[in-house]
Amino acid sequence: MRIMPNRMDRGFFKYQEEFEEKALAVLRSGWYVLGKEVSGFEEEFAAYTGADYCVGLANGLDALWIAFRLLGIGKGDEVIVQGNTYIASVMGITINGATPVFVEPDQYFGMDADEIEAKITEKTKAVLVTHLYGIASRMDKITAICEKHHLKLVEDCAQSHGACYDGKMTGTFGDVGCFSFYPSKNLGAFGDGGAVVVKDKQLADAFKIFRNYGSEKRYYNKIVGANSRLDELQAGLLRVRLKHLKELTEEKILIANRYTREIHNPGILLPELPEKASCVWHQYVIRCEERARLIRYLDEKEIGTIIHYPIPPHLAEAYAYLGHGEGFLPKTEHLAKTVLSIPMYNGMTDEEQEYVIRALNEFE
Ligand SMILES: *Cc1c(COP(=O)(O)O)cnc(C)c1O
Repeated sequence: MRIMPNRMDRGFFKYQEEFEEKALAVLRSGWYVLGKEVSGFEEEFAAYTGADYCVGLANGLDALWIAFRLLGIGKGDEVIVQGNTYIASVMGITINGATPVFVEPDQYFGMDADEIEAKITEKTKAVLVTHLYGIASRMDKITAICEKHHLKLVEDCAQSHGACYDGKMTGTFGDVGCFSFYPSKNLGAFGDGGAVVVKDKQLADAFKIFRNYGSEKRYYNKIVGANSRLDELQAGLLRVRLKHLKELTEEKILIANRYTREIHNPGILLPELPEKASCVWHQYVIRCEERARLIRYLDEKEIGTIIHYPIPPHLAEAYAYLGHGEGFLPKTEHLAKTVLSIPMYNGMTDEEQEYVIRALNEFE
């Protein structure tokens, strides 16, 4: 049996008719940028997350860097971020000229809240939390620290659509919740897409102006902005997917629970969740000290895996200028050497799940 790490086609075919109907309707409407699909999606996604406002953007990276820009964070400022995130989180900070200050992860792949305060200086302006792999971070501690030190809080929710901490959805704890709708994400478009959720009307309006060349009224440009609009076609298709996101997430939770129940191998560590946190299983990430051998073994059985992520941002060539060498973040670097994402996708059959579980249990 051949099993790929992800199967986005299954997510499409499950609702094929609805997607095709919506795509045709948008194509035939004659209106392709900033119309009723985008505003409809913004309303529905705000309602889904429990946020007051949502603004659609072109992608997740734009959501991040525009968030820091509009929060007034730039050159000379520091932003605390976890070392084990996707590099886009860090780029959201550095595009604005601000400096990322890295902290190590906790045992749940989230930012270690107990490490934050030691990293705060007079230059610290914000904390950026990534709810990595779909696991909600420990937001009680993190929000308390941000309040105490008057720091802005930005959440990278590119992997956590629908994940909650203490019953409250990720993205709604801080000043800005940044989402990506890249096709492989839990709420995936059929191309690029992104959004922010915010509770402040003024900030929501600022995003709307910024994404459209800094203009509220056509040809009257208040500020230098960007072209970062979610398009009508993607917004329409996202509305279709959003209607089914609850059931899609529940399906992933069932698969993850089965993995957790049935994978028993002393050489393999399974993911755990913090108390009060829920997980939407963007990825199911195991850890193995003998990862290279495990990958080869699974490869022979035609089970595809991915490493999220093999090179932590502080060791990426792009960030050589920060001057952090190997050994700077031992926990982060150890994760980069041991994590492995096993197949996890909507539409994964029982046979496919069994095949993966058996293979992992038989690895010695
Ligand atoms: C995907 C992702 C992003 C970037 O989103 P894009 O839409 O691809 O720009 C940022 N952060 C994390 C954690 C991601 O997984």
